[in-house]
Amino acid sequence: MSKQIVNTESDAAESLMRVDGLKKHYPITEGVLRTEVGRVRAVDGVSFEVRAGETLGIVGESGCGKSTVAESVLRLTDPTAGSVYFDGEDVTAYDDTALKRFRREAQMIFQNPDSSFDPRMTTGESVAEPLKIHGVGPRSRRLEIARDLLERVGMSGEDAARYPHELSGGQKQRVALARALVVNPRLIVADEPVSALDVSVQAEVLTLLNDIQAEFNLGVLFISHDMGVVREVCDRVAVMYLGEIVEMGRTEDVFNDPEHPYTRALLRSIPTVGVESRGTDAGLRGEVPPPSDPPTGCNFHTRCPEVIQPDGYDFEQAHWRGVMNLRVAVERHGVDVAGLRAFVGVEDDASVSPADADAMKAELRREHDIPETLTDPSAEATLEAALDDIVRGDVEDGRAVLAEEFETVCEGESPPLDEDGTGRPTACHRDGAAARGGDD
Ligand code: ADP
Ligand code: MG
Repeated sequence: MSKQIVNTESDAAESLMRVDGLKKHYPITEGVLRTEVGRVRAVDGVSFEVRAGETLGIVGESGCGKSTVAESVLRLTDPTAGSVYFDGEDVTAYDDTALKRFRREAQMIFQNPDSSFDPRMTTGESVAEPLKIHGVGPRSRRLEIARDLLERVGMSGEDAARYPHELSGGQKQRVALARALVVNPRLIVADEPVSALDVSVQAEVLTLLNDIQAEFNLGVLFISHDMGVVREVCDRVAVMYLGEIVEMGRTEDVFNDPEHPYTRALLRSIPTVGVESRGTDAGLRGEVPPPSDPPTGCNFHTRCPEVIQPDGYDFEQAHWRGVMNLRVAVERHGVDVAGLRAFVGVEDDASVSPADADAMKAELRREHDIPETLTDPSAEATLEAALDDIVRGDVEDGRAVLAEEFETVCEGESPPLDEDGTGRPTACHRDGAAARGGDD
């Protein structure tokens, strides 16, 4: 490739794509007037850059906004806020001509390669097609380039005559890569490119992607929910949770010394060959909250195993997580007191006997992973008071007791993505709270 990025500022020269404060919110509308009644905060303020010759990974659970980032940076959808720069130019300000050039320089690879192919076209024709769109000719020349590229992605020139249905998933993804490369792009956005492939084939395609990237000095934005896959191909990685980046750094550093509790949890949930599942504490408990109603403070506090304890208490961390589970449940959906009464066999209008109340409280503790007795007596007394309120039907009083007594900074304030500690951007209160550290 003869293209070079010429820029006097060395920092900017490295940056092929820079994304600043990107947001994409989808309105939730109601009625014929389509009144906006809410917003899905699919991407809620992310910033990163992709340099020429590097692969930046974006990793996170399904629904955290990875594909929306991909679509937004390629201007397949218009961002709600923020900027995307390609070569220092504002992509959102491109006119049709500039956009056409950009669409050539930045190519996308999808999870399902079938979406890039017309089943009636041969492999060679499919790979050559973008050349036609961009006015490269004649046809014989286009097919020659296509055959050449097929060979570079590990297919043979004869494969050019085959049809998509004659190819395996791995072969199709190779051809999709050839088709993306045919227009000499400088950036590839690959959204879960191996997630639909057999594990045995994944490694081959990842190796190919690595080789191609080095050969063509491409910038690659590599999107995956799979930490193992990200580790194979990415130079740097950004970990996303509920529309935000919670940690970003060199892959090696992030994997060897994860800073954010979410990253740590994701790493624990990578299945290890030959090791039995390690149960609930290995992975992540609870559902990802809906992006239409994200938690206050740190998005992750509703599930974080390392959520910070309130001052003045001395919980075992797992017990504190249990108390937080109850708090979060009460805040977010209240408590089904009628269900609890039914569970322990209290008749509809009957009063709750002390034994029934104990059974209901025990059930609440069980549901939220709270032990029978907390080791901290003062925390135990407060929790009991709140549970008493709840089983009596005074859920609001119980909620208030929990909220006032067990207040945590994680819920109150949103942690900025700061370069504290190791110099790696991490959005977690624990950095700032480390000084507070010890429990009394
Ligand atoms: P990921 O790729 O990480 O699985 P997505 O970017 O596909 O996540 O989706 C992020 C969130 O945005 C999800 O909650 C998804 O349901 C929502 N979402 C995606 N596209 C739309 C859309 N067109 N309209 C409304 N919500 C959407
Ligand atoms: Mg996706």
